[in-house]
Amino acid sequence: MKEVKSPKKPLIYYYATVLIVLLLFNLIITPMLQEAQVTEVDYGTFMRMIEEKDIGLVEISQNQIVFTDKSKENLYKTGVMNDMTLTERLYESSAVFSSGISETTSPLMSFFLTGILPLLIFFGLGQYMSKRLMEQMGGKDALTFGMGGSKTGKIYVQSTEGIHFDDVAGEDEAKESLQEIVDYLHNPEKYTEVGASMPKGLLLVGPPGTGKTMLAKAVAGEAHVPFFSISGSEFVQMFVGMGASKVRDLFAQAKEKAPCIVFIDEIDTIGKKRDGQLGGNDEREQTLNQLLTEMDGFEGNNGVIILAATNRPESLDPALTRPGRFDRRVPVELPDLAGREAILKVHARKIHLSDDANLHTIARMASGASGAELANMINEAALRAVRNGRTVVTQADLEESVEVVIAGYQKKNAVLSDEEKHVVAYHEIGHALVAALQSHSAPVQKITIIPRTSGALGYTLQVEQGDKYLMSKEELENKIATLTAGRSAEEVVYGMVSTGASNDIEQATKIARAMITRYGMNDAFDMVALETVTNQYLGGDTSLACSPQTQREIDEKVVALVKAQHEKARKLLSDNRALLDKLAQFLYEKETITGEEFMKIVEEDGVLQKGEHC
Ligand code: ADP
Ligand code: ZN
Repeated sequence: MKEVKSPKKPLIYYYATVLIVLLLFNLIITPMLQEAQVTEVDYGTFMRMIEEKDIGLVEISQNQIVFTDKSKENLYKTGVMNDMTLTERLYESSAVFSSGISETTSPLMSFFLTGILPLLIFFGLGQYMSKRLMEQMGGKDALTFGMGGSKTGKIYVQSTEGIHFDDVAGEDEAKESLQEIVDYLHNPEKYTEVGASMPKGLLLVGPPGTGKTMLAKAVAGEAHVPFFSISGSEFVQMFVGMGASKVRDLFAQAKEKAPCIVFIDEIDTIGKKRDGQLGGNDEREQTLNQLLTEMDGFEGNNGVIILAATNRPESLDPALTRPGRFDRRVPVELPDLAGREAILKVHARKIHLSDDANLHTIARMASGASGAELANMINEAALRAVRNGRTVVTQADLEESVEVVIAGYQKKNAVLSDEEKHVVAYHEIGHALVAALQSHSAPVQKITIIPRTSGALGYTLQVEQGDKYLMSKEELENKIATLTAGRSAEEVVYGMVSTGASNDIEQATKIARAMITRYGMNDAFDMVALETVTNQYLGGDTSLACSPQTQREIDEKVVALVKAQHEKARKLLSDNRALLDKLAQFLYEKETITGEEFMKIVEEDGVLQKGEHC
């Protein structure tokens, strides 16, 4: 895959250039200019030069005399005196009387230097800048400005040999959907015979880093057709009209090369809902209109397939997603457990894995990770192996790299006081113990109290056994209890609270809120949706849709729910105080313990047998 993109220089670069040129001009050219100008001499010198017959040209005007020496190279001027015989003396010295020396030499010269030259420099610079800008913006647009410019845009990328579907792991549903496109590009007659037409546009929808770009490239790779790619943000330019002309240009090129794939990344940057407000973004709307026009303009079955990617589908203009445009939506979701393992395997092809490496465990640890994050984990592991002077990547490398991606690097030189270390140990054991004591919580994989660059002073890595698609009310409650357990342990042991629980608090509140406003897990509100998710793939922001009165009730219910679970966690811990102390001491000494070591101590204690289920 060849990707030629001209490097972008920020605009500030051009301003800096102009500034430097101006400065140089003032510092160098202006003094030169003054030197080239007339030298003022006194009348005596003038008289002496006449006597020495050293005058070339001379011009006498009302209030000054301008003259040159014999060589006519130096220009002088002097004032006018009441000198009756001057003309005769000059005549005798065989000076040439001339009119307009001052204009022919110095003023013209200085006019050139002060007037024309800066203009020329600015014009040249302007030309250069606009050319650079046009290049960035992509080729032919320059013509619309009547400034000439390069003929072909460089931004459109053409794939020679490409990515294939096997390189994209998981995402089987998406691949199936796209397979049809590949088949069509291979064999269009099959479709036209029946009278079926391919969708002109497909929308790949999903969170960042799930392989949307890869999938688009893979379609081109599988079908052996050219691949044009452009990002939505590249359409939105400084000048109104540039984006639209770029769209025209893109489609013109694509039609020439058909059959081909056109890929528009981040389509939401141009495809946002037009709100019709005054002072809206004209440029964006024009670009969008042009895109719509182009899509309507070409008949189906001409071999140009447009793939677009977005992670905010809800913000797209309905005109863009209506039939005949981007009417097919291909979800590209975060990978499930099997998908994660497959993605890890694909990327592990590039490295040497030791025999002990178990990608299944890693996939389990990395729940919720996107394809890009998984790729990053493999790379981190390889880097760690190199750092330690090894040529094979071990399981330990992989596990550490998952933690690096989740929690950041180990902070080697962070010094916790002894007291703080104890508090952190109790906090983390609190989480783990409550998780273990509640049957439904996922078992613990690892507990550590080594600080991380993300700011975590320690953490408990929980691992889901398999993928969970449904969570019961009880499971969610247990999760809240587990989250509050860190703080609970501090309370039980030290009778005081610390700042170390802010992240836990945030997460617990989020779950509790969702239970009440979205999952209908509260009797008072029954199955009424009080909140809607507005930003599904990017953090999942929500917006409330209820009366202020209800909002207050929601807040009260959230507080009550978290409080009850916090109470439960505290009780579980104080009931098992001896075990808590033992585990915390063990963690304090070892700093990092595995799930097995933890469970061994818990089982020795025998609490789990006493409990209802395990
Ligand atoms: P998106 O366009 O969805 O943001 P990309 O396609 O750019 O994501 O993916 C970024 C990188 O993540 C890819 O280059 C690849 O290394 C990795 N990746 C993402 N998803 C997958 C997948 N399903 N299989 C293999 N690698 C993947
Ligand atoms: Zn915590």
